[in-house]
Amino acid sequence: MLTGIGKSENFQFLKGQAEVIEETRVNLFETVTEMGHEQVLFCHGKDPDIKAIIAIHDTSLGPAMGATRLLPYANEDAALKDALRLSRGMTYKAACAGIPVGGGKAVIIANPENKNADLFRAYGRFIERLNGRFITGQDVNLTPDDVRTISQETRYVVGVEERSGGPAPVTAWGVFLGLKAAVESRLQTSDLKGLKVAVQGLGNVGQNLCRHLHEHGAKLFVTDISKEKTEEVKRLFGATVVEPEEIYSLDVDVLSPCALGGILNSETIPHIKASVIAGAANNQLGVELLHGQMLTAKEILYAPDYVINAGGLINVYNEMIGYDEERAFQQVRNIYDTLLEIFDRAQKQDITTNDASKQLAEDRIRKARHLKTLAVV
Ligand code: NAD
Repeated sequence: MLTGIGKSENFQFLKGQAEVIEETRVNLFETVTEMGHEQVLFCHGKDPDIKAIIAIHDTSLGPAMGATRLLPYANEDAALKDALRLSRGMTYKAACAGIPVGGGKAVIIANPENKNADLFRAYGRFIERLNGRFITGQDVNLTPDDVRTISQETRYVVGVEERSGGPAPVTAWGVFLGLKAAVESRLQTSDLKGLKVAVQGLGNVGQNLCRHLHEHGAKLFVTDISKEKTEEVKRLFGATVVEPEEIYSLDVDVLSPCALGGILNSETIPHIKASVIAGAANNQLGVELLHGQMLTAKEILYAPDYVINAGGLINVYNEMIGYDEERAFQQVRNIYDTLLEIFDRAQKQDITTNDASKQLAEDRIRKARHLKTLAVV
């Protein structure tokens, strides 16, 4: 269902939306039907001036969760596409993570320089009116303070207090387990001793991952644009430091992208010698289908990013229901088994691992819907 909520004071169909659609020839209903969205909300107010889109993709498994980003999109169509694409991604991510959460995403169309408390409070009121169908948190151009401001108007926000100490250690643990599953599947060994791993990006996740790998005897090759970080990882874990552009062509067993999206593309893939790609970065494939197929053709086993990096979402979900470290880490352990299942599906059906993970997510959603029908009967 597409909901351009009425023309009340606070909810209006985005001004000029109709013209934009005509200009860019996007058929909204066709698009959301094809992508499977349940609901798309266009939020508009004059005082304060707010334009936001909340996309609720699927709530079969639970309330839609998805962080809010604020960007000065080139046009409203670009904002809408971002919200639609990312909310669908959240559905697949949560389904593969095995947590009772659906997929959503919100975008606020604004220049970050103009953001202010009034804007976030007005946005919070839109969320509160959804009565828990959508739960949000912090994404691009929002700070923890902005999230705290939103929470003055709504209960449906996560990450207000870092009850768990932040998601990065949990994400890194999930990536480590996923990397192990991929190595086991492709290299037929569960022993990481002497395994050569190239890690791109030594931020919150990358450094924690290096620690796990070092503790399990892997040989590390690392890069970052920050010399301070590379020096620290060299000192702590005896890693070999390489220049950022060298990381793709190293003669290693595993490449672990933990910095940027879009880095698996037509330029980099021909240089990759690793037989496994397993890292935390979001949206690693430049063009999902094309570059997924290129990796498969090179017999490189790719651990789909949204499956292997789900530790962060699992952590946030646990914050929402009352943080229990043991339960959170137990749920993260499932990433290992889920990836083995995905690799097995991909091999048996001769499809990319990305397609196999979507299939798994869709199966889980279908089952949940079926169970709901039985419960009604
Ligand atoms: P971060 O910002 O702490 O670290 C990113 C690191 O990448 C920084 O040290 C940065 O200097 C480095 N970097 C940037 N450009 C680079 C380049 N060209 N070459 C090499 N290094 C470069 O981020 P993070 O929290 O560690 O997350 C890493 C990735 O994982 C991001 O893509 C993030 O979206 C994704 N992710 C993170 C989490 C989480 O829990 N933090 C969860 C899911 C996904």
